[in-house]
Amino acid sequence: MSTVQDGKVVAIHFTMTDEEGEVLDTTEEDGPMPYLHGAENIVPGLEAALAGKKVGDKFTVTVPPEEGYGLHDGLPPQEVPRSEFPDDAELEPGMEFVAEAEDGSEAPVWIFDVEGDTVLVDHNHPLADETLVFTVEVVSVRDATREEIEHGHPHGLDGDDFEVDED
Ligand code: ZN
Repeated sequence: MSTVQDGKVVAIHFTMTDEEGEVLDTTEEDGPMPYLHGAENIVPGLEAALAGKKVGDKFTVTVPPEEGYGLHDGLPPQEVPRSEFPDDAELEPGMEFVAEAEDGSEAPVWIFDVEGDTVLVDHNHPLADETLVFTVEVVSVRDATREEIEHGHPHGLDGDDFEVDED
């Protein structure tokens, strides 16, 4: 029986809550979520807790912000003109974009708010500073395909999904 380790595509059911028990995300409606273990597809604290687990294992893990979505850097959101975003994108708070700096480096940013022609973007993840509680069940574990290893993410539960992302 295979255990969760690097190079495995693992499908999990999970519910993520904050410390007060408010549900922030859950796989209940959409079905199990596959991820590639060891590829940083999920937050480090959750990935570490899954290592060595087997199909059918259920557990709860509390993940501090340092092992979750990071600590807030204290900087306020920045104003960016609406024109710098794709015309056809419906901009909503919480949406993630990749911002390219002048030196060519890329970093994720999240929309904090939209005010007319000005978009407030934040370099902090919306869940920065949050301690998160994950209740998890391991649904399946399989070897990743070579293509999945190369891409650093799973191609669906069975590994034969068409690409839905651009890479
Ligand atoms: Zn891919």
